[in-house]
Amino acid sequence: MINPVLKRALQTWGEQPQMLMVVEEMSELMKEILKNISRKKDNIDAIIEETADVEIMLEQLKENYNIWSKVENYKANKIKLLEKRLDEWDATHAA
Ligand SMILES: [Mg+2]
Repeated sequence: MINPVLKRALQTWGEQPQMLMVVEEMSELMKEILKNISRKKDNIDAIIEETADVEIMLEQLKENYNIWSKVENYKANKIKLLEKRLDEWDATHAA
């Protein structure tokens, strides 16, 4: 379920501006991650802020496309697959 304030933002400003904002916030987070990795910068505060921004926008994206439960199902399946790969990895890399 979407936070009611975020639903209100989507309704107030509309689909197109809010979906553009998703992309904008994702690019801000990407920039901070790359800064941290490549310049070994201590920008954890910026990473925290941009992660929150992206999560806020992803909620609006899921609401906008009405894909909450489909995303949850995909996530659950992908996590299961990931677990399988990790188990296989551990089995072949055991000491
Ligand atoms: Mg931001």
